[in-house]
Amino acid sequence: MGLFTKDIKSMNDLFVHQLQDIYYAEKQLVKALPKMADKATDRQLKQGFLTHLEETRTHVQRLEQVFKMLGSEVKAVDCPAIDGIIKEADEVAGEVADKSVLDAALINAAQAAEHYEIARYGSLIAWSKQLGRDDAAALLQKTLEEEKATDKKLTTLAESRVNLRAAS
Ligand code: FE
Ligand code: FE
Repeated sequence: MGLFTKDIKSMNDLFVHQLQDIYYAEKQLVKALPKMADKATDRQLKQGFLTHLEETRTHVQRLEQVFKMLGSEVKAVDCPAIDGIIKEADEVAGEVADKSVLDAALINAAQAAEHYEIARYGSLIAWSKQLGRDDAAALLQKTLEEEKATDKKLTTLAESRVNLRAAS
């Protein structure tokens, strides 16, 4: 969709477009999370990335279910925002030599991705309710809860251990 094209005519079009956007983002995260787990040194952080990888696979499946509920084609559209977040994570990780500092950088990058997802799912849930699709909202809500829980776990890990180690 170009900025000045008029592909999105209704709230429903916007909803479906943003579903396609987050579907792309989730699929990119399925590829990125194993790489982040590889780079992490802290065992809990490594495990956390792998646990969220499994959840992220479920997020992809839930979105496929939502497309089907709506009678829409299962389709992804490029999401430059998540591409940028993942690219930045790769670049920063490549520039950090110290393993403990790298863990802190990986948490930072992961939280940028979670916050992006939280923002997007928040709107998608509000829109699906507005459009009378409480069935879709309920599924999207499950994913939102997992994104929020992941974000909290990352904060706890950073503040309880990783930042301390990175600074020492
Ligand atoms: Fe997700
Ligand atoms: Fe996530």
